[in-house]
Amino acid sequence: MATLLRAAPISQRIVEDLTQKCAELKKSGTTPHLQVMLVGEHSPSLIYTSNKKKFMEKIGATCDIHKLPADVSEEEFIRDLKRFANDKNVNGLFVQLPLPKHLSHLDVGQMVPYEKDVDGFHAQNLYAIMAGDTGQKALVPCTPKGIITMLKEANIELEGKKAVVIGRSMIVGKPMMLLLTNFNATVTLCHSRTKDLQRVCQDADIIIAAIGRAKFLDNSFLSPQKNQILIDVGINHDENGNVCGDIDQDSVMDFCEILTPVPGGVGKMTILSLGENLIKATENQIGKLK
Ligand code: NAD
Repeated sequence: MATLLRAAPISQRIVEDLTQKCAELKKSGTTPHLQVMLVGEHSPSLIYTSNKKKFMEKIGATCDIHKLPADVSEEEFIRDLKRFANDKNVNGLFVQLPLPKHLSHLDVGQMVPYEKDVDGFHAQNLYAIMAGDTGQKALVPCTPKGIITMLKEANIELEGKKAVVIGRSMIVGKPMMLLLTNFNATVTLCHSRTKDLQRVCQDADIIIAAIGRAKFLDNSFLSPQKNQILIDVGINHDENGNVCGDIDQDSVMDFCEILTPVPGGVGKMTILSLGENLIKATENQIGKLK
């Protein structure tokens, strides 16, 4: 039976660490401030941004959610974004996605200055991980960063391991591939056009599923003798409306060694990474980082 690798015990340590760093920054005169831009009333976005605000306040930082109506003009949206980008009291800035259709062509990742880019979407931050950074210098996209933290906390060695990442999005799959490579894993990036995905997965030591299809990966993708590690990024709803991942937990439990549950796994790590990025961005901005 697999061990469930949960975020909760890891979370406790990181929250303590971030709270302490935040207190030190405050003592030296800077309260880390996260500015969120939220356009419209997309209900998951309302929940995500409110959770992010609660978390930042928990560690002692401040967070403001700047709400704009769904029909805000492009001009007004850009004007507000530039104002936050230039405000020296804003240490971290991000735009909650998705944006309404009339704004969705905007490359907001490039409009947020790289040093405030707590989402890790700016080209300069992405280039850093392309060039081999493991997150020492760059602000790294939050979900892949959280997965690396989980693997490290569980003492899972990455060097020389065969890792399969399923999903090639800009926010999860591709940066995940780069980070695992930077930690010396041998990575195969799979996607909807990959042929014989089951065989590719059967050969892996670590499988990271970021697909967005409820319970897609079952035990037919696994090799029980390999003691595989399964990381489930998916956030979906099953036939009964319950939150579930991309991995069919019941099906794989007796076929792998470690599995991250949904909920209670990767999702929680993402917000911790956002907190880490905010503190790092603030330290960088006031020149505290050696
Ligand atoms: P996306 O839709 O941008 O990408 C999905 C990827 O899955 C694509 O690259 C596609 O090629 C691949 N794919 C689709 N069907 C496939 C198939 N049959 N076989 C192989 N590959 C297939 O999604 P995303 O934004 O990367 O998110 C993926 C999942 O992770 C979603 O469920 C999302 O909600 C979740 N997510 C969770 C967190 C978190 O904090 N836990 C963060 C981001 C995304």
